[in-house]
Amino acid sequence: MKRIFISPSKYIQGENELYNIGTYIKEFSNKALLVASISDQERIQDYLDKVLEDKELEIISGQFREECTKEEINRMTDLAKVKNCGVFIGLGGGKAIDTAKAAAFYLKKPLIIVPTIAATDAPTSKLSIIYTIEGIFKEYLFLQKNPDIVLVDTGIIAKAPVRYLVSGMGDALSTYFEARSCIRAFADNIPGGKSTKAAFAIACECYRILMKEAVKAKAACEENVVTQSLEDIVEANILLSGLGFESSGLAAAHSVHDGLTILKETHHYLHGEKVAFGTIVHLVLENSSKKELEQVISFCKNIGLPTCLKDLGVTEITKEKIMAVARASCAEGEPMHNMPFPVTPEDVYSAIMVADRLGGK
Ligand SMILES: [Zn+2]
Repeated sequence: MKRIFISPSKYIQGENELYNIGTYIKEFSNKALLVASISDQERIQDYLDKVLEDKELEIISGQFREECTKEEINRMTDLAKVKNCGVFIGLGGGKAIDTAKAAAFYLKKPLIIVPTIAATDAPTSKLSIIYTIEGIFKEYLFLQKNPDIVLVDTGIIAKAPVRYLVSGMGDALSTYFEARSCIRAFADNIPGGKSTKAAFAIACECYRILMKEAVKAKAACEENVVTQSLEDIVEANILLSGLGFESSGLAAAHSVHDGLTILKETHHYLHGEKVAFGTIVHLVLENSSKKELEQVISFCKNIGLPTCLKDLGVTEITKEKIMAVARASCAEGEPMHNMPFPVTPEDVYSAIMVADRLGGK
């Protein structure tokens, strides 16, 4: 059995680290294409002005437009070719980052990722999600390699809305449990191998840090300040969860998330918020201990993550509706099938109902 572990080549995290991006750009080229929305670029303009005092350096602004589509990716590759850019920078939330990843992949250029929120574990991965212009999911694009550099400025993350940080903790919450299930099942991870001791140790550490630091880190973000606790949680949300999920694999928690997206009530809830409830369902499905379930539910309650359907906007609960979610979460290709036992839509329905009752108390 083959074990595979993948990761970005370099991960840098710290307050005011964005001021050093010029040095990192110059590792590859003197000319970079910045894939960022106008509003995200405005947020970090002070940093860019400082960086551009280095006259050898040029940063072309791509002015990313909202959705990671084939058209937008092509626009970025064309721009990079015309302007002769030697490196891509993907800066912002998920979609600008995914567009930069795809454009760098097609042109075989180096890539620097700069997340401005810590809402998911996507920045470190070699996966890009493509949408239609209407914003409907189209396909997963599996890239050749992970980003060359992931640069996280915790000062910027501390000033972003706290809901993003909390949602990132929801996404990170599932990492350990999904890794544990994949290992028990001998399931494949994202690059198509088995997990390593290294990846599982990372997933365990991710969970430990969440339990220890979450409340303190949330308070820091509410005050827009950087503390050791916030640094730990940002690392858990982005690096530990990113490496953990990609190199150990996903399972029921993310499939329940995918299933929940068919209910339009849940559409204005963030990825990690749905994954948090999916994690409770995951634990019910595998009949995890009462102690573990209680720990996860009270963790979510303490920081304001959803623990029941009502928390995700689903106030009218019918058997048809929840069965539809359960069926979608068991569709072909869903990581639900990475669980160490066969899972039917009926099993998922039962687990959702029990999770909802336990979490709704
Ligand atoms: Zn996720």
